[in-house]
Amino acid sequence: MYLWRIYLRVLRLLAPERTLAIFLALANLALACVLFTEPILFGHVVDALVHPKAHQLALLIGAWALVGFGGVAMGVLVSLHADRMAHRRRMAAIRMFFAHTLALPLAFHREHHSGRLQRIMTVGVDDLFTLWLSFFREHLTTLLSIVVLIPVALWINWRLALLMIALLAGFAAFNLIAVRRNRVAQGEVQEHFNAIATRTGDVLGNVAVVQSFTRVDAEVCDLKQLTERALAVQYPVLSGWAALSVATRAASTLTVVAIFIMGAALHAKGQISIGGIVSFVGFSLMLIGRLEQFASFISNLFFQSQSLKDFFEVLDTRAGPLAARGALPLTRVRGDVRFEHVGFSYDGKQSSLDDLSFHAPPGSRVALVGPTGAGKSTTVSLLYRAYDPDRGRITIDGRDIRSVDIESLRQNVTTVFQEAGLFQRSIEDNLRVGDPAVGTADIEVAARAAEAHDFIAAKPDGYATRVAERGRSLSGGERQRLAIARAMLKGAPILILDEATSALDTITEARVQRALDRLTVGRTTFIIAHRLSTIRDADWVLVLDHGRLVEQGTYDDLIARGGMFARLAAQGGFAPTADAGAGPRVALEVAA
Ligand code: ADP
Repeated sequence: MYLWRIYLRVLRLLAPERTLAIFLALANLALACVLFTEPILFGHVVDALVHPKAHQLALLIGAWALVGFGGVAMGVLVSLHADRMAHRRRMAAIRMFFAHTLALPLAFHREHHSGRLQRIMTVGVDDLFTLWLSFFREHLTTLLSIVVLIPVALWINWRLALLMIALLAGFAAFNLIAVRRNRVAQGEVQEHFNAIATRTGDVLGNVAVVQSFTRVDAEVCDLKQLTERALAVQYPVLSGWAALSVATRAASTLTVVAIFIMGAALHAKGQISIGGIVSFVGFSLMLIGRLEQFASFISNLFFQSQSLKDFFEVLDTRAGPLAARGALPLTRVRGDVRFEHVGFSYDGKQSSLDDLSFHAPPGSRVALVGPTGAGKSTTVSLLYRAYDPDRGRITIDGRDIRSVDIESLRQNVTTVFQEAGLFQRSIEDNLRVGDPAVGTADIEVAARAAEAHDFIAAKPDGYATRVAERGRSLSGGERQRLAIARAMLKGAPILILDEATSALDTITEARVQRALDRLTVGRTTFIIAHRLSTIRDADWVLVLDHGRLVEQGTYDDLIARGGMFARLAAQGGFAPTADAGAGPRVALEVAA
């Protein structure tokens, strides 16, 4: 059954501390055995009271004290270690999930909102934690109790035992049916919870938009609807469960009552002593208690199974061929890039790139132009293997990038994204992302080259100034210059620039442009270009349309050819030069 598969997998996560886990499990079993002696002692004490023998009574009470206190002391020790272990493994599970998820392909992250992933992680590790703890504290003891107590009960009085077993078997069957019936509904509940996490994560991540569009009430209202839908699915599951817990309690009362009635009848026939009945009731109460625990374990596991399933599903998502091990590393390249008949589709249906071939010699500047959706971003993302082409191949210095170690490939390629992508850390730490080993002096050199030093120095805490989430505490131009400084520190021989068309003032734009010019020196650079100046300065221009390379050549060639590019340029399809002052800034996107 699928619950068991999940349960076993949860336990397997304890494998790194196998020895301790086994020791704790055995210690718990020993504890359970100690507990079994209690009802037996109880019965003997009662019989000793009925037929008083002072010496025997003292001995029995002494034994009871030893069993009771010894059990408590051992229990504390075992619980303490089990708790610590569960906490350790929870932290390890967080690290594992984080490391795994971070390395998953961008395609995965485009489909899974970070809010959802965070929820899957936090809920998942909490579930793991409670399951591990209850495994040590309860599950094993419960299992052992059931396995041991039933034969012991049969041995004490088989008639009473059979009665008890029949009642309890009915109860177990009832539980099983309830689990089966509610499983699908609980899965739906979990999906609703994930949808809520996705929504809250998304809205909180766009809080500025929400506030400026006065959408606070609307977003709260939308969330209310989501929560209500979740409740609507949750209620029936809860009703089923409430009925089950009532039935559980009724079953235990019924069992005890039945044992008393039958016990009284058997005692009347002289088939059982009063002590025997007491022992038996003690046993059956213990067994019922254990079965109740077992039922609650099943119900907990049931409620947790969906979130654990989500958790394991993420862990089972393979990085695919992208992370192929054993590939040879790419040492520092010269930056000779070739696309050979590259074809690619995101969904396997609609082609996003078709038969794309071009060559970028080391140190050249290649501008990619074309309307929105033409495939510019897709083209450059293939270069750092965000995706792999479906057809054709891409080589760097003659080596197919699929055949090299992906980490080493990415060390050779730097991307300056349109959105700077800053972390909520100090400016210095944000720059260190480019090269963790770099010294403070070099950071400043890079910041100066990126025209960022002056604004950083003007901040009260200078390089230690903490940047807000996604760089919101900085202006657009400042963010871009930090991104450029970071790229400089990485110093990769191949550079990808997604030229921002965001409305920077002319002076800032000129500074960003100067910073970019310094950054691109000596590197093979691919620029998703919007500015006329960038396109003019490029050594080679690729004109894309609907995923096809419709024209390529130098700026002058393309103008002279009078094709699509010339038409776009004539229509004023490019933003004017950065230093040319204000003027119409019609991006190519619009013109096309
Ligand atoms: P450009 O950068 O020229 O604006 P893109 O490379 O972003 O164009 O997009 C090329 C085509 O691929 C477009 O039709 C776009 O809708 C599609 N596309 C881009 N990203 C994805 C994605 N993650 N999933 C599916 N389709 C995508």
